[in-house]
Amino acid sequence: MKVLTYENIIVGGGLAGISAAIELLDNHKKVLIIERDIEENFGGLAKKSFGGILFSGTPQQQKAGIKDSPQLLYEDWMRYGAFTETESLGAQWAKFYSEHSISIIYNWLVSKKVDFLPVVNWPERGMDVKGNSVPRWHITWGTGYDLSHKVTNYLLHHPKKELLEIKFRHKVQSIIIENKKAVGVEVLNVLTNEKFSMTSENIIIASGGIMGGDLKLVKSHWHPNLSTPPDSLLNGSHKYADGAIHLDLEKKGIPSTHLNKQWHYAAGIPAPHPEEGKFKDGLSLVPARSAIWVDATGKRFTPPLVAYTDTSYFVEHILKTKEQYSWSIMNWKIAIKELAVSGSDYMTAFRNRDKLRLIKDVLFGNKALVSRLIEESDCFIVADTLDDLVKKMNQQDQNNIVDLEILKKDLKAYDDEIDRGKKYFNDEQLRRLVNFRLYRGDKIRTSKFQKILDPKAGPLIAVKQYILSRKSLGGIPTNLNSQVIDKNGDVISGLYAVGESAGFGGGGIHGDRSLEGTFLGSCILTGRVAGAHIAGTTL
Ligand SMILES: Cc1cc2nc3c(=O)[nH]c(=O)nc-3n(C[C@H](O)[C@H](O)[C@H](O)COP(=O)(O)OP(=O)(O)OC[C@H]3O[C@@H](n4cnc5c(N)ncnc54)[C@H](O)[C@@H]3O)c2cc1C
Repeated sequence: MKVLTYENIIVGGGLAGISAAIELLDNHKKVLIIERDIEENFGGLAKKSFGGILFSGTPQQQKAGIKDSPQLLYEDWMRYGAFTETESLGAQWAKFYSEHSISIIYNWLVSKKVDFLPVVNWPERGMDVKGNSVPRWHITWGTGYDLSHKVTNYLLHHPKKELLEIKFRHKVQSIIIENKKAVGVEVLNVLTNEKFSMTSENIIIASGGIMGGDLKLVKSHWHPNLSTPPDSLLNGSHKYADGAIHLDLEKKGIPSTHLNKQWHYAAGIPAPHPEEGKFKDGLSLVPARSAIWVDATGKRFTPPLVAYTDTSYFVEHILKTKEQYSWSIMNWKIAIKELAVSGSDYMTAFRNRDKLRLIKDVLFGNKALVSRLIEESDCFIVADTLDDLVKKMNQQDQNNIVDLEILKKDLKAYDDEIDRGKKYFNDEQLRRLVNFRLYRGDKIRTSKFQKILDPKAGPLIAVKQYILSRKSLGGIPTNLNSQVIDKNGDVISGLYAVGESAGFGGGGIHGDRSLEGTFLGSCILTGRVAGAHIAGTTL
C-alpha cells in the first residue's frame, strides 16, 4: 500500500475544516483537506444553513439598544444547557465562546465580507427554563449559502494558496494513532476504490456529527427523556454525518461524550426534492407562532407549543405521544406572514440578497413560499372549512384519528379568547404572542392575534410535522486548544477535533440545549483555535 507524507491533514471540508485551513494558511502552513463529498458540495452543511449566528455585543445589537454582555450570555448558556459542572470541557468552551464571539467569530466573518441583517432575532426564549435574555441571533444576509461561498472563496484565493491541496471523493476510514500520538490516516479513493495511507504531523478531524448517514447512530444513542426514536425520524443533517470517525476513535480509547444529547427539530417534512443518496432526507420548517399545534389526534398540546420558544421542549412532548408526530393548524394569512423554512434553499429573498423581495415578503407575506410548499409537499393540507380540512387530514394520514370535535372545540376556544380582547388574554400562547409583538424583530413576523377560523383569512392549512434529526450536541472531547483528549484525560498529540465532530467544542459545548446560532459560530471558533495552535500562535 502506498504511503504519502503531509504536514497537516484536515478530514472534512465543512465550515469547521475550512476555518482551520484558513488559519493554517494565514500562518504559512501547508494543508491537505480530504473530503468525501463532491467538489460542488464543498462547505458542507453551512452552505445549506440559514446562516443565523449567535453573537454578544455586536454593532447591530448596540444600534437596536439591546444590552448584552459576554457574562449575560454565559449565564444564559449555563442555565439553558443545564450545566452542572462549570469546569467540564464543554462548559469551558461555552465560556470561551461567550467571551470571544466578537473577536474570534464576528470580526473574522466581517473581514471576509460576510454581513448581517440589521434586525437581530430572538429564538429560544425558553418554556420552563429561561433561554436567551436578549436577541442575539444574527441572520447572515445571503444565508449560510453566502457565508459559505465567501469563506470558501477566501480559502481558494488565499495569498498562500499554493500551500493548499484538496482531495475530493476521498474518505478517511481510520486515524492511525501510536503511543498517544496521531501519525496518519487510512484513506479510500471513493471513485477508484484504491486504499492508501498518509502520514502527517497533525490531523484535524472536521468530519461533522453523528446526526445523518443512515440515522443508526442517532437512534442507538437516543436520550431517555425522548421516549423512543420514531420510525418516521427524518434526516436533516449530512448524508455523510454517520459518526464513522467517532466509532473509529472509540476503538482506540478515545470515546466521544454526550452522544445522546442531540438537537432535533419538531417541524420536519420529507424533503420534496431529496438529495441523491441521502437516507430519509428532511426539510425543517420554522413553524408559525400563531398556529395551533396539536397532536396526531387533533388535540392541542398543554401547555401550548409556541414556535420560537424551546425546541427541545417541543420534541420531548411530541415524542411522548403515541404517534410521535404532530399537526400545525393555521390559515393562509398566518402562513404567509410567519411560516419559514430553516435553510438556504427555500428562503430565496434571503439567499439571493434580494432587498426588494424581502421587504415585499415582510409587508405582504411570502406567498411564493407557502404556495410552493403546498404544491410540493403532501404534508400540507388545504381546505375552506374545518370539516373538509379534517377529512383531508384523515385521508392523508392513514391512521384516520384526527378528531373533528376535539379540534373544533380547541380552535373555537382560542378564537373566542381573541374576540374577548387583548386585556383578557389568559391563554399561554396569546400571552406569548403579546410578548413577541413587543420586540420589533418579532413583531414584523407575528400576526396581530389572528383567529384561526376567520373566513377572511382562509383557506385553512394543516401541516403534518415529523421529528427531524439535525445537530450533534456531543462528540469527540477536546481541550481549549481543540486537541483531542482520550479516556484517561491525556492529550493525543497531533490530533485535533473541530466543529460538529467535537460536539462544537469539548465534546459538548451546549450541554442539554442550544441558544441557537451557536453551531456555525462554534465551527469557526474551534477550527480557528486548532489552526492557531498548530501554527504556535494564539488568537
Ligand atoms: C438546513 C440547515 C440549516 C442550518 N441552520 C443553521 C443556522 O442557522 N445556524 C447555525 O448555527 N447552524 C445551522 N445549521 C447547523 C450547521 O450548518 C452545522 O452544524 C455546521 O455547518 C457543521 O459544520 P462542520 O464543518 O462541523 O460539519 P459538516 O458541515 O457536516 O462538514 C463535514 C464534512 O466532512 C465530510 N466527511 C464526513 N466524513 C468524512 C470522512 N470519513 N472522510 C472525509 N470527509 C468526510 C463531509 O462530506 C462534510 O463535507 C444548519 C444545518 C442545516 C442542515
